[in-house]
Amino acid sequence: MLNIIPSFSLHSLKPTGGISVNVDGEGQNPPGDSVTLENEVLKRWRDLDIIDRLLEHNKGNEYFRFLEGPPTANAAPGIHHVFARTVKDTVCRHRNMKGFYVPRMGGWDCHGLPVELSVERKLGIENKDQIEEYGIEPFIKQCRESVFTHIDLWSRLTERMGYVLDLKDPYITMKDSYIESVWWSLKEIWKKGLLTEGHQIVPFCPRCGTSLSSHEVAQGYKEVEDPSIFIKFKAASRENTYLLAWTTTPWTLISNVALAVNPDEFYLRIAYKGQEMILAEKRAHELLKEGEYEVIQRITGSDLEGMSYEPLYNFIEPEKPAHFITTADFVTMEDGTGIVHIAPAFGEDDYQVGMRYDLPFVQAVHPNGTFKEEVTPWKGMFVKDADELIIRDLDERGLLEGVHMYSHQYPFCWRCDTPLLYYARRSVFIRMSELRRNLMDNNEKINWYPSNIKRGRFGNFLEEVKDWNLSRERYWGTPLPLWRCRNGHEHVIGSRDEIRELTGKDDIPELHRPYVDRITFPCSECGEEMKRVDYVIDCWYDSGSAFFASLHYPFENREEFERQFPRDYIAEGIDQTRGWFYSLLAVSTAVFDEPSYKNVICHALVLDGEGKKMSKSKGNVVD
Ligand SMILES: [Zn+2]
Ligand SMILES: [Zn+2]
Repeated sequence: MLNIIPSFSLHSLKPTGGISVNVDGEGQNPPGDSVTLENEVLKRWRDLDIIDRLLEHNKGNEYFRFLEGPPTANAAPGIHHVFARTVKDTVCRHRNMKGFYVPRMGGWDCHGLPVELSVERKLGIENKDQIEEYGIEPFIKQCRESVFTHIDLWSRLTERMGYVLDLKDPYITMKDSYIESVWWSLKEIWKKGLLTEGHQIVPFCPRCGTSLSSHEVAQGYKEVEDPSIFIKFKAASRENTYLLAWTTTPWTLISNVALAVNPDEFYLRIAYKGQEMILAEKRAHELLKEGEYEVIQRITGSDLEGMSYEPLYNFIEPEKPAHFITTADFVTMEDGTGIVHIAPAFGEDDYQVGMRYDLPFVQAVHPNGTFKEEVTPWKGMFVKDADELIIRDLDERGLLEGVHMYSHQYPFCWRCDTPLLYYARRSVFIRMSELRRNLMDNNEKINWYPSNIKRGRFGNFLEEVKDWNLSRERYWGTPLPLWRCRNGHEHVIGSRDEIRELTGKDDIPELHRPYVDRITFPCSECGEEMKRVDYVIDCWYDSGSAFFASLHYPFENREEFERQFPRDYIAEGIDQTRGWFYSLLAVSTAVFDEPSYKNVICHALVLDGEGKKMSKSKGNVVD
């Protein structure tokens, strides 16, 4: 029997007076203090090889199947990791002592924007153009080198807190074997018809130059104050008559192509301050004082459909008929005026209206979030910075009916803290919305602690689940294994062997950009050249694949995978309900239609002095 509790005398547990700052120095503290004691214990564990023996303990017995969530090793660990790891360790040790064999493979999350951002900073690079100039190959080499900058700190933390974890043979998401497993799973998803590319409204970080997934967005909401304005759109065929609309994003007015009203609500034409104004009846009661206006006519929203108005701005000439009233059910009587301004390039609802009415697509904004050349007065300006100037311009032209500051939740990039914009972009999606039922059924098989998360925070998220925006217009990540010819035929490569079969050679040094970008082969349907669709994938998909990719399944370890699926236990902070808890369930549902874990402990977060969540990217961690 293994003696896992080192023996020490009661005397050595006595607390000492002062706090020692010399936590790492050995033998420099008075004997009997906690630091000396800790060092003694660590030495004893090292001498007796305790961690390795615990990892082997009960081998041959029944498994307790734990999965370690992979941290990114390019940032230093903080005190919040100690807490999280204690929760993991306690349960695993208990099961181990109860006679179970508990493999505990360590893991490292290596891809994605966090790594790219740190390399950009190091190289003094500010945008994607500069990365292309620098070269993708040297850039990803830098990324690979930077991944393990802080691995010694992580190893030291692991040892010092006595966390039993196998760091000798960890899974590493940037290794070819891991990527190959991820490719295999994406091919499975593609074969089911769940991987599609389309023009969709996606949350987009103008600084990082890429779109984000909805679960990434869910992590970065902040309360902000934005201007909300009432704007007067002049009716085209009627003198001195205005349609009163409301918006919280004045910068999107440049791309306005229509207005929307609710077809089933009543609207009023009123005399107000010497002019005629049209707005929803219910909103008029809210916004205007009695006696301040006189009702001229009461009509329904559908009566207004098709009515033309004069555009506020003519910087970009629309290529199709525009600037008329449309009807849409999403127009509510909760706020605003009951008349919504429509810019299909910048909102999901707007986009749908645009499709229904065949509206033109006016995009006045560059992917980096600045106005295009055509928008002469504000060209090159970050759109949100232009809000104030646009408001002033409308005011000077007598088209502004009111401004007030409005505080609401607005999404920011979870990595670089830039306000996100909603853009129509081409993106590759996993159609998770089609798997909503399966996700919810699989969630029913999971035991959550605390139990209210299951149908609350997590269940609610699943009920509203959106398609997973998988593609990132970036460099350092698992390349999306999707190839396409110019006739639109598609092929997904699912293994290294398949590259050999299709190209007749195997000269790719690794499964990363730019090497995989060079793989071409003839289309099996039309013979044209197949080229890779040059995205990398969301790094949350990488970590969500850990339950099989860590074993290089299905290329190796098939039996071991069977033994370890599904995992018995995972534990992370509550912020992972939209992060790893979700991506693990999403990948296993899409590929295996089973949950990948059976029990989950969802613990509270460690906050900083201001009550904010400790996080590497915010730099507010305590070492
Ligand atoms: Zn960003
Ligand atoms: Zn083809």
